Amino acid sequence: MRSEKYLVLGQSLESVRNICELMVIESIKKLIPLYPSFDHCTMCIEDVYALSLSRLPATYAHAGSIILNKEVSQSDVEDVVRYAILQVADRPKHNS
Ligand SMILES: [Zn+2]
Repeated sequence: MRSEKYLVLGQSLESVRNICELMVIESIKKLIPLYPSFDHCTMCIEDVYALSLSRLPATYAHAGSIILNKEVSQSDVEDVVRYAILQVADRPKHNS
């Protein structure tokens, strides 16, 4: 999916990603089953994702490049994701 918003001089910058994104996604998949009270709606999962990423240092690189993330370890990411799951479960943005 190409978005014109990401074009600069005809080159798309969409493939430059925050390198924490995949670590956060893997952690969410691993940890969410441990929280049976967490509802699995799109809004809550997106909130966990956004809240987790906003609490981690933002380091960006081309999605295809292999970068060792020296600033953030897997266990740092899991701590942040656990925190985010609890925050969102406590205060979902929707009723019920
Ligand atoms: Zn929800």
